[in-house]
Amino acid sequence: MHVIDRNKFSNHSKYGCSQSDFALCITNCCKSFLVEDDELLDYYTNPENLGLIIHLKPKSLCPFCSSAAFSFTRIESFNDLVEYENPWKKYFRDGKFVADVELSNREATAAELFDFLIGNFDGFSFCLRFSLFKDTKTKQISIHGVFSEFSSYFRDNLQIIQNSKLRKLFRLIELTFRIADSVNDAVCTCFLENIAGESFSDVIKPHLGTNSFEYYKKYGG
Ligand SMILES: [Zn+2]
Repeated sequence: MHVIDRNKFSNHSKYGCSQSDFALCITNCCKSFLVEDDELLDYYTNPENLGLIIHLKPKSLCPFCSSAAFSFTRIESFNDLVEYENPWKKYFRDGKFVADVELSNREATAAELFDFLIGNFDGFSFCLRFSLFKDTKTKQISIHGVFSEFSSYFRDNLQIIQNSKLRKLFRLIELTFRIADSVNDAVCTCFLENIAGESFSDVIKPHLGTNSFEYYKKYGG
């Protein structure tokens, strides 16, 4: 079900037709949001001015950042959104944004992240057992070590990781930015940097929260 409420939206737009429905989309180049009229293939780029529409051709540049590598992903449901805060929010369907409620009062602690990685990524605990990031004397591994190890796991297994897990992972990662502590440092320096600039960036970009994306971009994301 679309995130955009058809009535709220069409009340403010002079375009659209009786068959129109409106899909929120996110660009893969710069993570900007636009709305697609899925019947007329008109595109709205400014939530403050629905009188402004654009038409896209196969080789169109990004209307936001002018990138030639322009593409976008449709957001099919609230579950596909990393954050509820959004420039188009006033046109959203009413309803609870479940993920936000789930996570709003939680901190992403080292223990929480560790449990999440072990519980959700098959075979990762096995990788940790033989990890070179373990302290040779104590056999313990720091949260920095965990994410360094997870970077390799992530690269090797991304193709089989379900979207729902990617979403949860990057939501937890985004939460670490609320407190700039060693956990956030581990996530940034031992994971986001490691996975930036790889061929799979289009797969993960839609899942990155605002702060994660800013950081990731600095390293060639
Ligand atoms: Zn762009």
